[in-house]
Amino acid sequence: MKDIKELKEYASVNNIPIMQDDGIDFLTTFIVKKQIKNVLEIGTAIGYSAIMMARCNNDVHITTIEKDEARYMEALKNIKKFDLEDRITLIFNDALNVKLDGEYDLIFIDAAKGKNQDFFEHFENNLSMNGYIITDNMHFHGYVEMPEEEITSKNILGIVRKIKDYTYFLENHMLYKTTIYDIGDGVAVTERRG
Ligand code: SAH
Ligand code: MG
Repeated sequence: MKDIKELKEYASVNNIPIMQDDGIDFLTTFIVKKQIKNVLEIGTAIGYSAIMMARCNNDVHITTIEKDEARYMEALKNIKKFDLEDRITLIFNDALNVKLDGEYDLIFIDAAKGKNQDFFEHFENNLSMNGYIITDNMHFHGYVEMPEEEITSKNILGIVRKIKDYTYFLENHMLYKTTIYDIGDGVAVTERRG
């Protein structure tokens, strides 16, 4: 199963929300262009995005955190199959319980959509001086742009409001500046100000 296509098919059949094609293209292009070496990913799922990022360049190292045991096991298997055990470190835990010492030049947040700000604040001290934080699913499948009265699910509305709060938090942060791109499900790129 050395084929990326099979990973994507597995995700599709099992309803695992891996990054969309244009989102992953953006992310991998970004890694190459900015010469990113150390990535921290929150939300491994089955390892698809971690594997794609690691394949950008032989000197890219990924640390990635997943709290769901079945997905963690699947990711472990996939990382082995792609021979990337030496460059992808997989942690099985809730990211908010993980304390890391390392510095990362990219922190990629792609886990529980309502907890983006918690992840951001939990790991911002691990961001290198010229590093970036990228957050996926800023549009949350288009719900963020919908009038709130049209959202009938309380659960979805709760997440939408959290994403709106997170957007406000990013756009008004004194230490960081953020651009949100209309790519995939909405991708936010954050970096330190001046
Ligand atoms: N980045 C992956 C997709 C991740 S899907 C890819 O594009 O290939 C989001 C994942 O985040 C899910 O597998 C979910 O179990 C995990 N997750 C959600 N909350 C988490 C948390 N607090 N800590 C670690 N993982 C979490
Ligand atoms: Mg995502």
